[in-house]
Amino acid sequence: MMSTDSGSQQPPIIASIDAGGTTFKCALIQEERGVIAGMRVPTTSPDETLSSCAAFFKEQARKGLNASAMGIASFGPIDVDPNSSNYGMILDGPKFGWAATNLKDYFEQALSIPVAVDTDVNGALLAEMEWGAAKGVDAAAYVTIGTGIGAGIFANGNLIGKPHHPEFGHIRVQRHDADKAFSGGCSIHGDCLEGLASATALTRRFGNPVNLPKGHIGWDIEAYYLAQACTALSLMLRPSKIVLGGGLMLAPHLIGNVRHQYAELMNDYLGQSKDEIDNLIVTPELGDDAGLFGGVRLAKL
Ligand code: ZN
Repeated sequence: MMSTDSGSQQPPIIASIDAGGTTFKCALIQEERGVIAGMRVPTTSPDETLSSCAAFFKEQARKGLNASAMGIASFGPIDVDPNSSNYGMILDGPKFGWAATNLKDYFEQALSIPVAVDTDVNGALLAEMEWGAAKGVDAAAYVTIGTGIGAGIFANGNLIGKPHHPEFGHIRVQRHDADKAFSGGCSIHGDCLEGLASATALTRRFGNPVNLPKGHIGWDIEAYYLAQACTALSLMLRPSKIVLGGGLMLAPHLIGNVRHQYAELMNDYLGQSKDEIDNLIVTPELGDDAGLFGGVRLAKL
């Protein structure tokens, strides 16, 4: 967990928000104790959702649980440039009604504590590097495969893509031979990675992935695209860990299929053994709380 402030008796309490498109998760987190108070609220209108979050933290403060800082790991697109006048502002995107909402300004005014904001995937990446599947490595990528596809990448001591954030979900990939008929689900590019391999895109071709049996061609098609994403990351950045998270990765057989197809596509080019590939392409360890722990890391950057 986090390092203690020297001189203080108790480790600081950090307020964290995992701001998702469906749910906002709020928590107070303290070193060695983990989550000491938590609450979740549906993502509706900015006014309704943000005031519920602020009310939760104020109520905790009345009970004596005072946070010293806040970190927010948020859905995007969002301005994550600390030097920008719009730092913390949600930009025009698919989440209707949230554009121009500034999360940082809102909570700094409501709670009078410093607030740091970054993307949900950057938050999850930093948390996995601190406490989870990518602990102790210098270079790692976190890819989330859910309703969309996003990635956070850390290399050479920094998050990559600053002052913006990567848009790795929209790279081009080669079509699977058995997937030539689908036009793709991305409203901007059609058959980019997200347009072919998000949970939404998989559902459009094969129905709810939860009902898709192991061994179905849909999983081979999905793994083929994710394997291409992993080869792109490996060849460009040589990360020590590629963490594949998000709802679709809850299918337990998918990660093995991705590793297998990664090995075939790579064709031993980097000389990676099966064990090395198994160690490279992994699933998250922090589960549902990755975003919240990400918020803690962001608050302490
Ligand atoms: Zn796209």
